[in-house]
Amino acid sequence: MEQNNKLSMSRRHFVGVASILGASLGLAACGQSEQAAPEKKPEEAKEKSAEATKPAEEKKEGAGLQDEYDLVVVGAGGAGLSTAISAFDAGVKNICVLEKMGVVGGNSNFATSGMNASETKYQKEQGIEDSNVLFADETFKGGHELGNRELVDFMCQHSAGAIDWLAENGIVLDNLTQTGGMSVKRCHRPTDGAAVGGVLIKGLKAAMEKRSLPIFDEHKVTKLVKEGDSVNGLEVETKEGKKTIKAKAIVLAAGGLGSNQELIKKYRPDLEGYVSTNHAGATGDGYVLGEEAGAELIQMDQIQIHPTVEQSSAKLIGEALRGSGGILVNKEAKRFTNEMDTRDKVSAAELKQPEKIVYLIFDQKVYDANKAAAKYEKAGITKKGTDLADLAKQLELDPTTLQATVDAYNEVAGGKADEFGRTTGLAQLDFGTAYAIKVAPGIHHAMGGIKINDKNQALDKDNNPIKGFYAAGEVTGGIHGGNRIGGNAVCDIIVFGKNTGEQVAEFLKA
Ligand SMILES: Cc1cc2nc3c(=O)[nH]c(=O)nc-3n(C[C@H](O)[C@H](O)[C@H](O)COP(=O)(O)OP(=O)(O)OC[C@H]3O[C@@H](n4cnc5c(N)ncnc54)[C@H](O)[C@@H]3O)c2cc1C
Repeated sequence: MEQNNKLSMSRRHFVGVASILGASLGLAACGQSEQAAPEKKPEEAKEKSAEATKPAEEKKEGAGLQDEYDLVVVGAGGAGLSTAISAFDAGVKNICVLEKMGVVGGNSNFATSGMNASETKYQKEQGIEDSNVLFADETFKGGHELGNRELVDFMCQHSAGAIDWLAENGIVLDNLTQTGGMSVKRCHRPTDGAAVGGVLIKGLKAAMEKRSLPIFDEHKVTKLVKEGDSVNGLEVETKEGKKTIKAKAIVLAAGGLGSNQELIKKYRPDLEGYVSTNHAGATGDGYVLGEEAGAELIQMDQIQIHPTVEQSSAKLIGEALRGSGGILVNKEAKRFTNEMDTRDKVSAAELKQPEKIVYLIFDQKVYDANKAAAKYEKAGITKKGTDLADLAKQLELDPTTLQATVDAYNEVAGGKADEFGRTTGLAQLDFGTAYAIKVAPGIHHAMGGIKINDKNQALDKDNNPIKGFYAAGEVTGGIHGGNRIGGNAVCDIIVFGKNTGEQVAEFLKA
């Protein structure tokens, strides 16, 4: 036992070191350069984990994994970390977060374009008129009215509060852009236009460290223990072996399933073989654990494909590049869709193009407004021309047609009606240096999942809350319906992560 404790103690401290390094090395590098598709590149994923675990020899004494907690959070992504922080601030003291990977942050690390929110102080300062009702209407409509309207309303009404809460924790998202399916600028990102995910996770980890809240990485939860009607424990697999721990409340925040081809095949056989933008740990464990513990899974066939994924690397090319003026052209050098339409519609339009070949074209202004653009270039997936004709030559597109396409688009950006109906994210393209990335759809987001209520309690098939069992983030279902709007997942994980922590505190007080 003593031996076990020593092993655990070392492990706990090692986690702290790994986490800090993750933030300064791995996470900053990954999150902002959006290294994705580990499913297709297991070696790369392993290397990333190895990099984060390098400083193991620097172990010092620290607290080990205890036998009992008030709150255990499963998954150290944005939803899990927000839950732990808000629970602590609401008075819950004995908390731990368990993470199966060697790095902290999950898919949240890779979030690119930003976080949607309405009626925020930043929108007001910048003269952007928005309302929670408009945000909710566009979210619900964008999701084909399949979402749970009460949860959608809850998310939108609490979105400005979530932006303020992040700012209080040192994460300032005051640079506004637009993604497909929104009529006003409500996608919030870091001041310098950096990808949101790296900044978010770095800030949330700092907030965890400030409160001395432990994260145990390489701790995989394999079972939720149920006694009677309550979930009150979990089984954990660690390098040192298996352990069962008790918890008064458990929050599943284990993310999505984009890296699990078996589950993709089970729920959406038509998507078999698509590349995935997700990190290696997005294997859908949460759905299996939740279902075994009696939670109902809903809308599991609602898996989003994202229209701008570079296929050789499976890197997601952020929607903000279209939101700041970028256009899509086919092999005939022609536009074919409203680039700012919802992801399902743009993906469907791409799949109808000759040879399914599509390029995202943008100028230096778009490049400069989106820090991720430099990362794409560094990764070798961007073509760069000295001017538009040079770019056309490299892409083997007809230069005259491409020029005519850009001229026509520039007229739309200047106020003329667009034959494809684009009215947002319009900015005239000025070539000069010209850029292109070849894109196609890839698996991106699980919109279905564990059924919850607005207290984030996991519900059984009769809609009864399962005592002690909560869920937050991508593992939950029913918010995004049949299509998630870009920027709404980060809103979801922060609003509902924060809410979950507060609800758990209420539950424990009672
Ligand atoms: C490339 C990319 C770009 C994106 N860009 C945006 C964007 O700009 N805006 C937006 O709103 N959304 C974006 N999204 C979606 C968004 O990032 C995710 O939906 C969201 O971050 C999920 O957060 P989460 O906390 O629920 O899950 P995650 O961040 O994935 O965290 C879940 C964690 O749980 C861990 N875990 C899983 N199973 C277990 C287990 N059995 N035991 C212990 N731990 C476990 C995982 O390893 C992971 O670390 C993007 C997603 C990707 C992949």
